Amino acid sequence: MNPHPAPPFDTWQWLQACHETWQATLDPARVGRRFRRARLARLIATAQRDSPLYARRNAGAQELSDFAPVTRAELMHQFNDWATDRRITREAAEAFVADPDGVADAWLGRYLLWTSLGSGGEPGLFVQDAASLAAYEALDALRLRAADPAQAALGLWGLGRRFAYVGAIGGHRAGHASIERLRRVVPAAWAPQVDVLSAREPLPLLAERLQALQPGVLITHPSCAAALAGLQAQGELHLRLDELWLGGEPLMPAQRERLHGAFGCTVRNSYGSSEFRSIAYECRHGSLHLNDDWVILEAVDEHWRAVPPGVLSHTTLLTNLANLTQPLLRCELPDRVRFLTEPCPCGSALPVIEVQGRATTH
Ligand SMILES: [Zn+2]
Repeated sequence: MNPHPAPPFDTWQWLQACHETWQATLDPARVGRRFRRARLARLIATAQRDSPLYARRNAGAQELSDFAPVTRAELMHQFNDWATDRRITREAAEAFVADPDGVADAWLGRYLLWTSLGSGGEPGLFVQDAASLAAYEALDALRLRAADPAQAALGLWGLGRRFAYVGAIGGHRAGHASIERLRRVVPAAWAPQVDVLSAREPLPLLAERLQALQPGVLITHPSCAAALAGLQAQGELHLRLDELWLGGEPLMPAQRERLHGAFGCTVRNSYGSSEFRSIAYECRHGSLHLNDDWVILEAVDEHWRAVPPGVLSHTTLLTNLANLTQPLLRCELPDRVRFLTEPCPCGSALPVIEVQGRATTH
C-alpha cells in the first residue's frame, strides 16, 4: 500500500467549479445568486439528512435563518456526529494528523485534512472533499490571481515564476496542506516552483534563505511580511519581489503602505480561514470582495443578531456552500467584519467587506 496516497483531486469537479465561478464572476447579481440559492438548498438538505449533529439541533430547519448559530468548540466536541461520512471520527483524524509526514496525503482515500489552532484556543480539524477544494481553487484562480488585468490571461499561478511560501509548517495547517497538495496534483510540467519555509525560523535565518532563493512572489501573513520589510528597509535584506501575497491576518492600511514602501511591489491581500479558505479576494482597487456565491458571511452582534450594512460586527457567522462532507452552517468565525454600502469602482457586484481583527469567542 502506498504510504503517501495522492491528495484528493477530481478533474470534473474542478472544471465544473471553474465554469460556474467564471459565470458568477461575470454576473454576480443574477448568476451568482442563483448558484448560491441552489448550493444552500443542497447543503441544508444534506446536513439535515446525513449529519446527526445538525439533524438533532435543528429539527425541521428549512431556511438558513432556522439554524441556530454554532461555535467551533461545539462542533469539535461533537465531532463524531458532525460529518456526513460516518467513517469520519475525531480519533481517526487526530491519529492521521499526528504524523507530520502525511501532510496533504489523501485521508480515508478521498479527503484532505487540515488543522487550525483557532483564535479562541479551540483547535479545529477540518475535512475537505474534492468539491470544496475545487471551489477554493476556482476562486483563487479566477478572482484572486486574475484580479489584476495584467495577470488575467495567466489566471492560475503564472508559469516561470518562483514562489516562496512562509507560514506555519508541520501539523497539517491549512496553508501548508494546500500548498503541498497543489505541488502534488499539478502535473510537473505546469507545477509552480514553490519553496516552503517555516515562519518559526529565526528572522535572520529566514531572511538569509529568502535572500538566496530570490522569489518573485512571496506568500505569507502580514506580521511576517512586516518583520521582513523592517530588514529590507534597513538594507539588511535585498528581495526583488514582483508581488507580495498576504493572508491569514487582517491587513491595516498603514501596514500595507509600509510593506509597499519597503518592497516596492504590488501587495495583494486576501481573506480566508480554516473554515473556508478563500472567503474574499482583493480587487485592483484594493477592496476585499466577498465570494458570496460560495460562502455566506453574516455580520452579527455579541448576541448573534444581524448588524446593518456599514456597521462593524462583533463577530461573524460563516456558512460554507462548497463542503457537503463536513457541513458548516452559521458557524461562528470570531472576526469583526463590516459590509460596505458603497459599490466598488471596479464594477463587481460582489459585496465589499472590511475585516478588523478578532473578537472574543462565545
Ligand atoms: Zn472592487
